[in-house]
Amino acid sequence: MFRIENLTFAYNAGRRALDGVSLEIRPGEWWAVLGANGSGKSTLARHLNGLLLPQEGRVYVAGREVREYDDMRELRRLVGLVFQNPDNQIVGNSVEEDVAFGLENLGVPREEMRRRITEVLGEVGLAGWEQADPAVLSGGQKQRLAIAGALAMRPQALILDEATAMLDPAGAAEVLRLLAELHRQGLTIVMITHNMSEVTAADKAAVLAGGRLEFCGTPQEVFGAGELLRRCHLELPPAAALGEMLGLPGCMDLDALLAALTALKDGETA
Ligand code: ADP
Ligand code: MG
Repeated sequence: MFRIENLTFAYNAGRRALDGVSLEIRPGEWWAVLGANGSGKSTLARHLNGLLLPQEGRVYVAGREVREYDDMRELRRLVGLVFQNPDNQIVGNSVEEDVAFGLENLGVPREEMRRRITEVLGEVGLAGWEQADPAVLSGGQKQRLAIAGALAMRPQALILDEATAMLDPAGAAEVLRLLAELHRQGLTIVMITHNMSEVTAADKAAVLAGGRLEFCGTPQEVFGAGELLRRCHLELPPAAALGEMLGLPGCMDLDALLAALTALKDGETA
């Protein structure tokens, strides 16, 4: 779905926001991208749907180099991007109108538009909200509306740039449940997050620091790399931190951790 080769990008003549990043994301995979503030996560996201073009290196989307898309709208349709602030992405005066916006830009016929709006609002759990003013929606509902807008374009991939960061735990959980369902249906997902506990849902995780790709692996491998994460100014989630202390690096299985703690206690009381 995405092949990134030696991607380098600097906004000004100054420091590189991305520095020699190479990464391959296969169709249907769910990736988490981790990194401290300013590590280059959003810059990477913007390269995946042509909002930015590489200064050095290459980015391929669906087998085609981004520069070769004659119509950037085609690339934006193929790769939906959802941002952090739910309020900044709503353009319609009603839920329905908001989803319709992108479709109108594509010139999708009225009947087809109706069909798709009904379909995607059902998919994100907003059926029955068609006429509602988006302003009355909760944060989680707003993000699901933003996802519906992207889904209406029939994308092959969805990029979420800290899309749960401004949500309460319930709203974030709603979005993650939806992502799990979309992943099950075969959509490629790239989820940028600060929240280490969200990483467990992904197939793979990439860690950025100072514009460089420091690590790629399964969530378990990432959580087993406590030292590296600390160097990248990231903290292990509590279970993984406990696993590290108990000599079970990367372990997130609470039963296994409890067994290790019990063994420790038995050892002390024996
Ligand atoms: P992250 O999303 O991980 O917080 P960004 O990709 O936003 O990181 O930023 C990477 C680097 O690029 C940072 O040093 C940031 O200050 C800089 N940067 C980001 N956006 C811009 C911009 N529009 N203009 C100039 N510098 C920017
Ligand atoms: Mg960012």
